[in-house]
Amino acid sequence: METQEIDGNDTPISEQNSNNILLAAKTIKAAETLLITAGAGIGVDSGLPDFRGNQGFWKVHPNYLKEGLSFADLANPKWFDRDPHKAWGFYGYRYQLYRDTLPHRGFQLLKKWQDQRVTPGFVVTSNVDGHFQKAGFAAASVHECHGSIHYLQCAESCRNKIWTLDALTFDIDPVNLVARGKLPTCPNCGKVARPNILMFGDYYWLPDRADLQRQSLILWQQKIIDRNIVTIEMGAGSTIASIRNYSENMPGKLIRINPREAQGPKGTLSISLPALAALEAIDLALANF
Ligand SMILES: [Zn+2]
Repeated sequence: METQEIDGNDTPISEQNSNNILLAAKTIKAAETLLITAGAGIGVDSGLPDFRGNQGFWKVHPNYLKEGLSFADLANPKWFDRDPHKAWGFYGYRYQLYRDTLPHRGFQLLKKWQDQRVTPGFVVTSNVDGHFQKAGFAAASVHECHGSIHYLQCAESCRNKIWTLDALTFDIDPVNLVARGKLPTCPNCGKVARPNILMFGDYYWLPDRADLQRQSLILWQQKIIDRNIVTIEMGAGSTIASIRNYSENMPGKLIRINPREAQGPKGTLSISLPALAALEAIDLALANF
């Protein structure tokens, strides 16, 4: 595996990456349908911090470092019970960040390639930011396996209801990231609401919305079983390997784009670059065929 420093557009493209970029373009060109899978790393080029890596997370939020709180400590449903203003400081900040950030051009390239194939494709993402839909992907063809920050549920799951978090603005103390004032509440019991996101140690997450998306994904998989399918995976880490495992279990070729962990099972087309740089290079190669 390569250990070179990767830094945006100045990244030197190694020979192995160049070869695999060409092979990836050829593979995509021949594909009848494309599955796109993504983890947190895809959002880095949009300007989003990689929340899964504590280093990056603490750099953005030094106050949490002072409190000794990691991403996993904060992404825990207990805060909605213990200190809902702190819980909503964390999630309200992320909601506003995702809402105010535009998905990078790589999303448009992926959508263009998917639209050019004979059979519609699908997206599987562990990201909760809703950026695939924001970039124009049809909601019916996206599976958000960890839920979405744009949907709410009762923190106590008083009933199986999920509703949208429409145009809500949070007043968040910029120093300690604690939400001030009114918080979203459950329309049924009046207690605090929480994002419909699968958190760590989460027994209260309502999976109904994600389950419906998963059923659509299974139907799609049944339809494309005999097709030449190619999976393009971006920014999926090995710590929580659900996206990587899913990509590896798909039939057909796997293109794995990841600046640090591009390795995969035999036959994987590994590209050790950030998502946007890799997608732009593949697009250029496609245009030259
Ligand atoms: Zn309730």
